[in-house]
Amino acid sequence: MERIYTFDTTLRDGEQSPGASMSMEQKHELALQLAHLGVDIIEAGFPVSSPHQFKACSVISESVKGPTIAALARTVDKDIEAAAESIKKADKPRIHTFIASSPIHMEYKLKKDPETVIEMARTGVAKARNLVPEVEFSPEDATRSELPFLCKLVESVIDAGATIINIPDTVGYAVPEEFGQFIKAIMEGVPNMDKAIISVHCHNDLGLAVANTLSAVKNGARQVEITINGIGERAGNAALEEFVMAMFVRKDILPFSTGINTKQIYNTSRLLSNIIGFPIPRNKPIVGDNAFAHESGIHQDGVLKFRETYEIMTPESVGRDASNIVLGRHSGMHGFKKRLGELGLHVEKEEIDSLYQRFLHLSDRKKEVYDEDLFALVSDELGRQYATYSLQYFNILSGNTSVPTGTVIIEKDNKMFEEASTGDGPVDAVFRAIDRITEINTTLKDYIVHAVTPGKQAMGEVTVSLDIEDRIYTGHGSSTDIIEASALAYVNALNRFETFKNNN
Ligand SMILES: [Zn+2]
Repeated sequence: MERIYTFDTTLRDGEQSPGASMSMEQKHELALQLAHLGVDIIEAGFPVSSPHQFKACSVISESVKGPTIAALARTVDKDIEAAAESIKKADKPRIHTFIASSPIHMEYKLKKDPETVIEMARTGVAKARNLVPEVEFSPEDATRSELPFLCKLVESVIDAGATIINIPDTVGYAVPEEFGQFIKAIMEGVPNMDKAIISVHCHNDLGLAVANTLSAVKNGARQVEITINGIGERAGNAALEEFVMAMFVRKDILPFSTGINTKQIYNTSRLLSNIIGFPIPRNKPIVGDNAFAHESGIHQDGVLKFRETYEIMTPESVGRDASNIVLGRHSGMHGFKKRLGELGLHVEKEEIDSLYQRFLHLSDRKKEVYDEDLFALVSDELGRQYATYSLQYFNILSGNTSVPTGTVIIEKDNKMFEEASTGDGPVDAVFRAIDRITEINTTLKDYIVHAVTPGKQAMGEVTVSLDIEDRIYTGHGSSTDIIEASALAYVNALNRFETFKNNN
């Protein structure tokens, strides 16, 4: 079977999803898991855009081994130099450089004529090629570009040393049949195409990102740019899990292979969801709670008699084991560490003790600790480090005849701040008390509670979305106490705001 290279851009395009910004530690954790999942290329960031992005690329280059590490750059000198510098410690560094090629982008955004655009692309690629062994080039808004011009541009950059040509459907405008033909036309229209491979980068504005990606592969594309859970700009990118499983299930008409270990798909999806605090929709293909649930009696009966009656793939094939191993206090440090490893949760030596203490605390409050609880614990811990604010204490007074009152103590810069407030309910009172301490003007846009695991002692997961200075920040918290989970989620969103402020 022919090999398709998976280029994961969760850390770059994915992070551009509103509310999905990640801290350095979170990016590192996710990159380690992406390597474990088996992606071929990790796009770690856009180094020139901020010191935070630069650092993410250099930390990942140094410590994540296996995949190629790519950094994004426009075709200008300072971008290319920053990209090369940031990935110099990678075993396999790649610069991914881009310039817009559609008439609308060239005229209104770049304000450059087509000849100048070709010259800039050529010079940029040649410069990048002098600094790193592998260069990828993307003509931005390719699907709305004129084909003869696009072919000329691609020919020039291959001449200048690019060996991967990525065709992005930047605005998510293409439909599968047309996009496949477009890829074919580029392959036929560029005389030196044999010296490079074609890649595609599809956006999901019409819900067609995966379909367009598959169509491109059928027509000759050999690299795909995808993200975990399909996160990305606006409606997102093609989802890695959907693309990979479509090829896995339909080998008969899509006879291609990838380096992905499908059994790590579910873990990776959960990890990302916990890190960025975006819950996975129940009906999401492959990774949603309902993806393998059979509700209708006829379906249940069929599956019990013979699974394949209604199942095109098994939950085990994507790492959703029916035998969810349950831990408890008796499991000890050894059992705890072992299960974290099996779940692909990479914990640094310095963090394991504090994490283990939280695990013991949790197993006291809740007898059985499930995998989902461990994901929640680890991602909470990642969010906690290097945070501006941390919740130290809270207390509420609430009842059907009293005015709800909340008191909180928040730590900031090693100082403790205490405030109290009344509210419409206990959660509102706690949020208001926190606001008094941080003095940040927030509007609560969304508040979602869900049980991580079944049972009365279940951990509750709370997700809050706050509008602060016209941007959305999502926060995430988990606890067996719903008020505590809410306060943690709220503080987490405020910390994201502070991280964003410091990074930009
Ligand atoms: Zn994109």
